[in-house]
Amino acid sequence: MKYIGAHVSAAGGVAMAPGRAHAIGAKAFALFTKNQRQWQAKDLSEKEIDDFKKNLDEYGFRPEHVLPHDSYLINLAHPEIDKRQKSLDAFIDECRRCEQLGLTKLNFHPGSTLKKISDDEGLALVAQALNTAITETDSVTMVIENTAGQGSNLGFCFEQLKAIIDQVDDNSRVGVCLDTCHTFASGYDLRTPETYKKTMQKFDQIVGFSYLHGAHLNDAKSTFSSRVDRHHSLGQGNLGIEPFRLIMQDPRFDNIPLILETIDDSIWAEEITRLYSLTNSQ
Ligand SMILES: [Zn+2]
Ligand SMILES: [Zn+2]
Repeated sequence: MKYIGAHVSAAGGVAMAPGRAHAIGAKAFALFTKNQRQWQAKDLSEKEIDDFKKNLDEYGFRPEHVLPHDSYLINLAHPEIDKRQKSLDAFIDECRRCEQLGLTKLNFHPGSTLKKISDDEGLALVAQALNTAITETDSVTMVIENTAGQGSNLGFCFEQLKAIIDQVDDNSRVGVCLDTCHTFASGYDLRTPETYKKTMQKFDQIVGFSYLHGAHLNDAKSTFSSRVDRHHSLGQGNLGIEPFRLIMQDPRFDNIPLILETIDDSIWAEEITRLYSLTNSQ
């Protein structure tokens, strides 16, 4: 069974998100549990937490089909220790917010070396941060997203995702989210059944599907292997619709949140309907 949704707005409070996801026919969703462009956030109130849980239940969403995304400001690989610590504190706060909301996952980007340290050093710092965050929190799974590799962003190849996982002490608390646009832009093709199969085989060999806790379904304005991160609506970019048909028919993507971050939210409902129709087509 596929659980498809989109990254919906939490404007007005996190409790608004489940209703917005339901309104577009989603069976999964992503959200920010705080303003993603600010460091500080008010603690969630008891009422906000209760309302969120009530709405989640009312609209029939299960916690594991919600994929909260952390703030864009956080960089767990920051080469400067004070800035890295600020990021880690914010990351731990985000983990706790997820746990308070009864959610089981937190999706994050590995971070950036800012070209001041090597990639290997950066990956080790990310793993170190995760080890601390795991000790400081109870249960949330930290879901590393693969990136397009723009600038000095880490996580653009499967080996780098694996390098982080390998340095995390408790592997049960770490997972991976594959973004189709990032995968394509970082040099893994998905456009034909053959290239899709090869890319997914590589992912399984290097990382392993047992770590896959979610996916972002985005077409790409960026071109193949360009290492540029530009999303597009499904079927309108350089990926085309075929990769999404292949994912919809791939049981390895069952039972995890499949989240649209496509650029036109006015057609998310249509995109979700289209994706569900592709689960049956040949
Ligand atoms: Zn993404
Ligand atoms: Zn992106």
